[in-house]
Amino acid sequence: MTAESQFQIDCAFPGGNIVLERIEEDSVFLRQDLRDTQGEWFYWCFRVKGAQGKNLTFHFTRGNVVGVRGPAVSRDGGDSWEWLGPNEMCDSSFHYSFGANENDVRFSFGMPYQEERLRRFLGDYADNSHLRKEELCRSRKGRSVELLRLGCVSAEPKARAVLTCRHHACEMMAGYVIEGVIEKILSDSEAGTWLRGNVEFAIVPFVDKDGVEDGDQGKNRRPHDHNRDYRDSSIYPEVMVIRKLVSQWTNCLVALDVHCPFIRGRVHEVLISPDRLKEGGNLDRTQELLVALEAVQQGPLKFRLSDSQEFTTWSGPDGDSGPLVGSFATWVQSVPGVQIGTNLEIPYANAGGQEVNQDSARLFGNDLGEALYVWLRSKTARWESVARDRNARLTRSSQ
Ligand SMILES: [Zn+2]
Repeated sequence: MTAESQFQIDCAFPGGNIVLERIEEDSVFLRQDLRDTQGEWFYWCFRVKGAQGKNLTFHFTRGNVVGVRGPAVSRDGGDSWEWLGPNEMCDSSFHYSFGANENDVRFSFGMPYQEERLRRFLGDYADNSHLRKEELCRSRKGRSVELLRLGCVSAEPKARAVLTCRHHACEMMAGYVIEGVIEKILSDSEAGTWLRGNVEFAIVPFVDKDGVEDGDQGKNRRPHDHNRDYRDSSIYPEVMVIRKLVSQWTNCLVALDVHCPFIRGRVHEVLISPDRLKEGGNLDRTQELLVALEAVQQGPLKFRLSDSQEFTTWSGPDGDSGPLVGSFATWVQSVPGVQIGTNLEIPYANAGGQEVNQDSARLFGNDLGEALYVWLRSKTARWESVARDRNARLTRSSQ
């Protein structure tokens, strides 16, 4: 960069990721930083300072890594984001006209969700007795990895549920969905009230905490990523502790691992794609949950079960349609008592033509929380009636 360029590009902030190659007048050439990724991936996030009033074109030199709604842009230091839109894109380039006062603008493949955002979100619930922020463990780099316990945390719950997120660090839109689920559980709604009285949730919002904060791709990390670590001896401290925690939990009925899929593509633009579920009980029960979701949803992102069912029979690009070896979802299905154990894939930007953004993803999380309420209530009600029948029989036989 020359002194005359007068603007600076960097990624020295949580979630930052870019390699700046060169600047030629108003053209900037850059690429995503793959670091320890096996093969190609597409996450990037950078900041431009001092470019107010300029018209710049950003050229990505390592493939087309701009999604279907263009890059996400933030003008307030990474707090709020919006899609720039496809009109400013051309293949692997995008154009931006900086306003007269825009001297600090961030661009990213998606809408980053970092520890700072979670901290502020949880601040709204600081005095809530139904939410406990604990430490799952320390990451390899010494960061505190959050474990949120919420709902029925002061008494023995009827059921438990675990939600995990960011096994793949770059899949940030999933974070807003988790936020929406938490909102629902802690809300004054009928669903929230019932869930707090009956179900304990354990949520790990950043499984690959170091990757999230360092701005790694995370996906296909060498020698294997966090979502291929659920076999043999785990190499990541977070995965070791999650395996222990979930195995020891009684009545853990639901285990959902929220992801984002590939950069673009028809089948990946389905809202919620349970990952390659095989026929059998887990698929049937997951579909019960999804039927409930289709019935109760109120947010702008509309889930269609028929689209999702198509995905369950989808074969991956490698022709592998079987369960993913070493993934959280595959492992958790083998834990006794777990009735629903699956990946849920939330698209980065486009869900069947609907815009995925910070608000719509969060509202979708509200809907997912409502569906969890419907499903869990029906299951626990059935147990109670079975228990009542059994007690009545025992009473009669002892008379
Ligand atoms: Zn993933």
